Amino acid sequence: MATSIGVLQTRPLSTYLQHELSKRYTLFKFWEVPPDRRREFIGKHSDSIKAVVGNGVEGADTELIDLLPLLEIVSSDSAGLDKIDLEKCRERGIRVTYTPDALTGEVADMAILLALATARRICEADRYVRSGEWKNNGDFKLSLKFTGKSVGIIGLGRIGSAIAKRAEAFGCSIGYHSRSQKPNSTYKYYPSVTDLASNSQILIIACALTHEIHHIVNREVIDALGGNGIIINIGRGSHIDEAELISALADGRLGGAGLDVLEHEPEVPDQLLRHDNVVLSPHVAASTVETRQAMADLVVGNLEAHFSNKPLLTPVI
Ligand code: NAP
Repeated sequence: MATSIGVLQTRPLSTYLQHELSKRYTLFKFWEVPPDRRREFIGKHSDSIKAVVGNGVEGADTELIDLLPLLEIVSSDSAGLDKIDLEKCRERGIRVTYTPDALTGEVADMAILLALATARRICEADRYVRSGEWKNNGDFKLSLKFTGKSVGIIGLGRIGSAIAKRAEAFGCSIGYHSRSQKPNSTYKYYPSVTDLASNSQILIIACALTHEIHHIVNREVIDALGGNGIIINIGRGSHIDEAELISALADGRLGGAGLDVLEHEPEVPDQLLRHDNVVLSPHVAASTVETRQAMADLVVGNLEAHFSNKPLLTPVI
């Protein structure tokens, strides 16, 4: 039976997670409240809301945290923490949990999938067959090889390492940029992202988003990668200066891009849609039935641990 503990869910997540939360807590579905009624809604329920459940798109920002005096924990259904005001949580002693590891393999698979799809132009090829052009116009254009390419990874963390392992199986050489060199890694470390790009044919963004690396992939990095280069982003949209990416694609200064995340998602610039060498997916790198369930179990497990005074399963704070 649900307890009187109030949990504020910021946006629709999996049906399974919503069901598991409703069984245990009094669930407030924040996304169903019109934006102009949200303050009033919170005011009405703030004496029971002790937890916020969000994800990498909508977490717990300063404004929301300030409206919740009894907030004890933010349990995020994501590995990225950039939508949570961590500083504020630290100040207020609010616990924060997330779902790393549960999604690592899935997101790494997606990075390889996007790299293959972009290099081999598989979405464009699919459209070619469906539209009847194959029959009418003959053979499809040649694509680029993925096997054996030099792959540069920005962020050799959990997901970056899993991508490297997969790319190695395709005979790719691996270079990386992170805040620090990994002493146990045999991959080549580049302290500069531009140098990493100069020495890569495929550049994959797999790092966390912080203020310092907003637009870490800028014009200089794109030009260092070069006209046959491919950029893959499964990190966050703001890692790339999207205007520069679009300009490079338009000028032929970039070979292609595979993007699971966009700077102003779900807004998609028309200029990106015009390019056949761009493969897009709607922020779904971790969205398989199996992984979403594992993530949901962690979100609920962390809340249960917190409210029964047990150690958190995956604490950030
Ligand atoms: P992780 O294990 O914490 O790894 C994060 C990596 O980012 C580390 O290698 C870290 O470098 C690097 N990094 C952080 N700040 C940096 C900076 N200022 N300069 C250079 N590198 C920096 O996290 P993860 O589990 O691999 O996840 C990585 C990110 O993927 C998440 O934060 C999230 O944004 C994104 N993600 C996206 C999806 C999706 O659906 N598309 C799903 C899950 C996650 P050091 O190793 O040197 O500290």
